[in-house]
Amino acid sequence: MAISTSDPTGIPSYDFLSPQRIVFGWGRRSEIGAIASSLGRRAFVVLGSRSLERNGQFTELLDLLRAAAVTPVHVTSIAHEPEVADVDRLAAELAKCSLGDGDFLIGIGGGSAIDLAKAAAAMATNRESQSVVDYLEGVGRGLTIDKPPLPMMALPTTAGTGSEATKNAVISSYDPPFKKSLRSDAMVPRVVLVDPEITQSVPPDVTAHTGMDAITQLIESYISRRAKPIPQALAIHSLRMAVAALPEAVTDGKCRWARDAMAHAALLSGIALANSGLGVAHGVAAALGSLCRVRHGLACAVMLPAALRMNQSVSRQLLAKLGRAIGCQAANDDEAAEQFIQRIEQLVSTLQIASRLRELNVAFDEIRALVDASHGNSLSSNPREISDDELCSVLEKMW
Ligand SMILES: [Zn+2]
Repeated sequence: MAISTSDPTGIPSYDFLSPQRIVFGWGRRSEIGAIASSLGRRAFVVLGSRSLERNGQFTELLDLLRAAAVTPVHVTSIAHEPEVADVDRLAAELAKCSLGDGDFLIGIGGGSAIDLAKAAAAMATNRESQSVVDYLEGVGRGLTIDKPPLPMMALPTTAGTGSEATKNAVISSYDPPFKKSLRSDAMVPRVVLVDPEITQSVPPDVTAHTGMDAITQLIESYISRRAKPIPQALAIHSLRMAVAALPEAVTDGKCRWARDAMAHAALLSGIALANSGLGVAHGVAAALGSLCRVRHGLACAVMLPAALRMNQSVSRQLLAKLGRAIGCQAANDDEAAEQFIQRIEQLVSTLQIASRLRELNVAFDEIRALVDASHGNSLSSNPREISDDELCSVLEKMW
């Protein structure tokens, strides 16, 4: 068979980062004791799911830990995206616990709980500053995570952010407003336990928004200017399933194949974004989160179609590949890319997600500030440069 040499760049040089151990499967939270005992003996637990507390599953998890000779210490619960004060408080509390070998964290919840646990695990051992602000990208003193964080295990209860597999924690502030990452290769959770069964109790709107976050992450990492072959293979594999599964998971929360597909898509989207970066949809989503308090998944869902249109000209071939992967029949790349974008627009509309910024309570005169706050790691990975004026006019048209 002839090997094509038409691409002169060949395979790019790359690093690939992922959790050390991934345990995936329906019902496998029953194994939490044995899995956690490989990390240590005292587990500081951060919980982000009220429904788990209500339906008794949280108590069951703690009992399973104790049965495996792991002492759980439920240090905090969180019901909002983590803020600077949340991280500082928890890290200070942990630092007072005579930390040593055998201590680790477990984050159980959506991205908020897992991000809080990851950030606190890092800040508990890195005490050059008492505040995480000094370690965040683009704000503070620019300190870095030099000492290894406490080991960390993640058990996601929603299917979306992929935080269980990423090397950053997104931390918000509202005064002054920003949404920035604490980032270090050492922050990737050591062990990830994904049990899709646990996502059955997630309500339809949260399922839709978090699912669109995962889909946005798969697509943005795939066309990112830092895209790499392993994450691209993961993204194309799981996008195919996610696009079909998400409407089903929203309509029938008990549907096993759909919950499986979405939990897997979220996990792989985390691995993909940790290695390849994201794009303009996530750049603007961060701004919508910090300035207008729009939830992350919803912000991504609203921005994704516009992001695809902004990148259509430079990412045509890649978007065409995604289109063919999800079953678009097209004579050429132009058509396949166009059909792919239309499928995503349809998906967003099927899920009854807003398409106008004013529906998110964004004021028209906030758009300039949104553009300014969109700069950061995500925007810098977008496949093409987008000027502030262009972004401003796109957002104005979306208002
Ligand atoms: Zn995201």
